[in-house]
Amino acid sequence: MLIDSDFTFPVYIYENVLKVVKEICSQSNLELFGYLVGNVFEWKEKKYVVITDQLYNKNAVDSQQYFTSQIDGTAGNFDVVLKGIRDIRKDDDLRILGWWHTHPDFGLFLSTTDIHTQRFFFPETYQVALIVDPIRKEYTFFTLDKSTKKGYREISHAIISIS
Ligand SMILES: [Zn+2]
Repeated sequence: MLIDSDFTFPVYIYENVLKVVKEICSQSNLELFGYLVGNVFEWKEKKYVVITDQLYNKNAVDSQQYFTSQIDGTAGNFDVVLKGIRDIRKDDDLRILGWWHTHPDFGLFLSTTDIHTQRFFFPETYQVALIVDPIRKEYTFFTLDKSTKKGYREISHAIISIS
């Protein structure tokens, strides 16, 4: 396959991370969420992210109202957990690249609450939202985009297989 030399995906994700997220999501019809962890890179003035890990927040389930406040309440713990991953990977540049959460049988989009959560907790331009619908077996990535009517848009991704 020929690829344009200026071509990059905004999001790259390790295959095993995506697999783990999908597995967690398929185990419950409740709305689950976690963080996406990895690195930010720049190539020819285009930023892109490589998601190498995820953090599942087991305590946050049930309602979107609930988990937005949960993020706030557990932020301190996440610093510790993130430090743990940095130590394991020997990479101090690892950071939170966004979040994933489920939409059990209600499809792929960002709700008003999701947009608020993204703006408030994941305001960096490189931070993304991964939505998984475990019932319909669909997933996709979104980023905020003020120039669109909805205030966000879907973004493409590539899966990195490491064997
Ligand atoms: Zn949502």
